[in-house]
Order: sequence, then C-alpha cells, then structure tokens
Amino acid sequence: MFFDFLSSFFYKKPQTHLMDFMPNVRGELKKDFPLAKQTWFGVGGPAEVFFIPKDKDDLAFFLSSIQNIPLTILGCGSNVLIRDGGIPGVVIKLGKEFSYIKVDGNDIICGAATRNGEIAKTALDAGLTGLEFLTGIPGNIGGSTKMNAGANGSDISKIIKSAVMIDNFGIQHILGKDDFIFNYRDTTIPIGWIFTEITLTGIPEEKTKIAETMNNIRAQRLETQPTNVKTAGSTFRNPEGLSAWKLIDKAGCRGMHLGGAMVSEKHCNFIINTGNATANDIEQLGENIRLKVMETSGIDLKWEIRKMGVKAPAQSSFGGR
Ligand SMILES: Cc1cc2nc3c(=O)[nH]c(=O)nc-3n(C[C@H](O)[C@H](O)[C@H](O)COP(=O)(O)OP(=O)(O)OC[C@H]3O[C@@H](n4cnc5c(N)ncnc54)[C@H](O)[C@@H]3O)c2cc1C
Repeated sequence: MFFDFLSSFFYKKPQTHLMDFMPNVRGELKKDFPLAKQTWFGVGGPAEVFFIPKDKDDLAFFLSSIQNIPLTILGCGSNVLIRDGGIPGVVIKLGKEFSYIKVDGNDIICGAATRNGEIAKTALDAGLTGLEFLTGIPGNIGGSTKMNAGANGSDISKIIKSAVMIDNFGIQHILGKDDFIFNYRDTTIPIGWIFTEITLTGIPEEKTKIAETMNNIRAQRLETQPTNVKTAGSTFRNPEGLSAWKLIDKAGCRGMHLGGAMVSEKHCNFIINTGNATANDIEQLGENIRLKVMETSGIDLKWEIRKMGVKAPAQSSFGGR
C-alpha cells in the first residue's frame, strides 16, 4: 500500500492512443486529424484516427485487421454535421484511387469517390440521359448512394444498376439494385459497409437535350439556393406531402441566427455557417427551428443532415481487443 503510494509519484502509466493499435497499411493514417475542412459546413472536431486507404485491397486489409472500433465513413462531407468534440474511432475517407469513371454501353461505372458533377458531365458526353439531376448535387457518388440523393424528380434508386461494397470484415460484395432498400434520402445498408464502386445506367438521348436539361437545373439552383456559402443543403427532410421550407417560413425562422449559424434568407431549409459558427450553434439552431415548427404546425421535422461525433471533446474509443 505504502509502496503503491510512493511509486505513483515516480511511475506514470504510458498513455495509449488508438493510433498505436492500427495495422500496417499502405494508405495514410493520421492521428487526431481535424475534420472541419473535410465538410461543407467547415465545422467540427477531429477524428481520433483518420484513414485514407491506398486502394480497395488496402481498405479490405485494414477492415479485416481491426475489430470493435467504431468506424465512420466520410464522402465529400456535403451532408454531414460533425460535432465539435470530433469523432471517436476511425474515420475513413476514400481518396483519389476511388475516383474514376468508365463508360460501358449505357452503363457508367464510377469509383465511390467520384464527384457527382463529373458523372453528370460524362453521361452528357456519352449521350446518356437520366443522370442530369446529379449536376446540382454536391458530393461523391458513394455518399450520394448512401443518401439516395435526388432532385428534379429523380434519385439514385432510379439510375443505379449495381454496387461493389466492402463489409466491416474486409469482404467484398457485389450487389444488384434489388439488393438495396431505397427510402427518401436514405439507402439501407448494413452498418460499417462501404461503397467502393457504383454502376449507374442511362438511356441514349440527343446530347443537346441532355445539355439543355442540365442548364435548366443549374439555373434553377442559382435562383432558389444560396451559393458560395458554408452549408450542407437541406437541413430537414420534407414531411410526407409537405415542404420543410414552407413550414420553417411559416414558423418565422427565415434569417434566424444563433452564434455564427443562420437560416438562409434565400432558402430557409438551408442553415449557413456565416464564418465562425460552431457545430453546436448549427445543431442548436436546427433544434430551435424544430421547436418553432412544432409550435406553429404541430409537425416534428426530421434532420436530413447526418449528425456525427460527440459534443464534448472526444473520449478515446479504444477499449482493448
Ligand atoms: C448546396 C447543397 C445542395 C444540396 N442539394 C441536394 C439535393 O438537391 N439533393 C440531395 O439529395 N442532396 C443535396 N445535398 C446534400 C448532399 O450533397 C448529398 O446528400 C450528397 O449526396 C452527399 O454526398 P457526400 O459525398 O458529400 O456524402 P457525405 O456528406 O460525406 O456523407 C453522407 C452520408 O453517406 C455516408 N457515406 C459517405 N460515403 C460513403 C461510402 N462510400 N459508403 C457508405 N456510406 C458512405 C456517410 O457516412 C454519411 O452517412 C446538397 C448539399 C449542399 C451543400
């Protein structure tokens, strides 16, 4: 007892970090990596460990080598709110090796990190219609498939043919469209599974018509949505048969502020980081909107933006193996 007391003065237990237990990968592993710049909102704390796999095999090896560690996958960060305390565990982001497009007949095969805009442009060059709506949706096709992103009367479920996924044990699966359940702004996938490649399909059409549709979509967005601002797009899902923005407007929330967060004057379902917002400002403003909409319309708005991580500084997720 006396010895324990004495030794506590001289012996400091070595501090372990999740990083110390990471496998030997070929990609990049970063410790306590700031995530704010990885998101469109530009807010949020660090990832305990951030991993950019070198390629598909590296990702599979990594996943097969770790167990019981929380995993979060980040796409382009255009639909997420990462909380100020950051994300415990490992955050995976697919890098440039996962950004590629191949056209095969009416199919467009895309690496999961390919930007939607590039895919829409490739479809135009190939004379394939049906993918025009992607032109206005920021983000990568992996995140967009998870979100079943959509606009202008279409969504991913209408153009997807198949996808390659890697599960949380590092095993690859090739899935057809019918293997997925697509909902409004969500695709049901098993926890921890990651899209690595998506095959979309289009219908042959005159390029001038496709170009015209894309131009109209771009013009409509410029007219109705704020541009060059830090936002994650629509904050709340549209309740069945209703428009979230109309409910928010009716509740008098247009232009409402909290800290550095503000409800867009132009599109009141968009929350904007005016420059110095914290994730907490954004989340709290969102909750205030929900409260006001509930008071004025009796409707419980549901977040469309994915909230990730913890409010307080992150505690290590490492609990041994
Ligand atoms: C200005 C603006 C306008 C927008 N307009 C629209 C719109 O019209 N329609 C619309 O639907 N959305 C819209 N969005 C939201 C957003 O762009 C889409 O949801 C987009 O598809 C998200 O893609 P991302 O790569 O940024 O995904 P992220 O935001 O990084 O992630 C979204 C979700 O997908 C998961 N995920 C990411 N990559 C993978 C992967 N490879 N495998 C498995 N899961 C993954 C993440 O864990 C997270 O749950 C808009 C956003 C902005 C900022």
